[in-house]
Formats: sequence, structure tokens, C-alpha cells
Amino acid sequence: MLDAALDLFLGTRCVGCDAPGRMLCPGCRAALSRHAAPAWPTPVPDGLVTPWATESYDGAVRALVVGHKDRGQWGHRRVLGDLLAEAVRAASADVRADTAPLVLVPVPSRPGAGRQRGYEATAALVREAARRLRGERTVLVAPLVVSRGAADQAGLDARGRAANVHGSMHCPSVALARLARRSAHAHVVVCDDVLTTGATAREAQRALEAVGLRPLAVAAVAATRRRGSRATSSSPDR
Ligand SMILES: [Zn+2]
Repeated sequence: MLDAALDLFLGTRCVGCDAPGRMLCPGCRAALSRHAAPAWPTPVPDGLVTPWATESYDGAVRALVVGHKDRGQWGHRRVLGDLLAEAVRAASADVRADTAPLVLVPVPSRPGAGRQRGYEATAALVREAARRLRGERTVLVAPLVVSRGAADQAGLDARGRAANVHGSMHCPSVALARLARRSAHAHVVVCDDVLTTGATAREAQRALEAVGLRPLAVAAVAATRRRGSRATSSSPDR
């Protein structure tokens, strides 16, 4: 009845199977992964800490990410936050018993991108994931900022993406700097929505290491299946 009413009044359809009703039907919701796995890009950026992703970037997940990031479908952040929380759990499994706080660092958007509507998509997902995890341990969210405008990543290959973002982020936050001085007492996870070449995650890692914080891992909602030298026009901008 609810699905029929939603279709009648809103004309909404499932982003996964196009069934009329909710934007993600119960069947497509149930089909999403509940387990994250290491998702190494090819080639691997030098020195990248282990990247974890819960889903492949295609089908319903791709539609959810694009809808959330580019089409103002902010309600998707709940399901995407669940997927990201699962990646963070896997990424921090080795320190699960540790009482030190987990610090989630969202990969920042390019200036302008994702901010036009006053909504930072990746940061919103990370805050959502942090809410899921707070029942399990102490979780903080700390931002990085973009200090130099990197160009849009779409259309660049792995090497181009790495060169484009290198040196583009820095760690401005007093909280992070304070944490760096006591870094033996926190576990830092770099978080993003989609892992493509790993270039932006690697740059976030570099910016953290520059202030003395060595991230434990990278966690992402999803990773692209085909990676490496091929970049298509439909690839996300990171
Ligand atoms: Zn569906």
C-alpha cells in the first residue's frame, strides 16, 4: 500500500530495479552487501594504506551515490551511511578491542563541487556512518580542507589523477593537530564515497602524514570494478 501510494503521489521508482514505490525497494535494499573487503586499485598508489569498500560501484549503489551527490537525493545518506559504517568496521577490525577513539576523516570536495547547495555529500555520509558506529566505540569526525583547486578528475587516468590532486589538501584543524601530538591514542580512517584510482585517498593520507598522523586504512562505500589506466566519462570525479 505504501509503495502504491508513493508511486501515485510522487511517481517515485526504485533506483535499483525501477519498480514503482520507494527510491530503494526492500528487495534491492536486502541485496546490498553487509561485508566490506579490501579493494586495491590497479595500479596501487605508492604507500596507500589498505582501502576497504563494502560494495561495487555499479547498479543500485551507483544510482544511490550519484543521486546523493549530484541530484539532491539526500535521503540516500542513510543506506549509504550503513555501507560506509561497514567499511569502517572492517578497516578498524584490528583495533576493535582498543578503547582509543576512531577518527574518521572525510576526503574533502573540490571547492565548489558539492557545496553549491550547502551540502557536502561525503562529509554528510561520514557523519551518518559515525552515528552508526558510536554505539560501538568513541568516534570523532575531523575535516581536511582543499588548499589548492584540483581540476575535475573525470577523464584523467590514474597517473593524471595523482598529479592533479598532489599537494591539494592540508590539515587545518586545531583538533587534528592536537590529535597528531597524541597520535598513539587514536586510529584514523580516511573516508570517501567511491574509491576509483585511490589518488584522492592517497592525497588525504599524505596531508595527514604531513602533520604526523598515519592513517590506519581507507574506507569507502563502494569501489569501481575496473580500475587502472581506463577512465571513462562516466567515472566519478575522484
Ligand atoms: Zn528495487
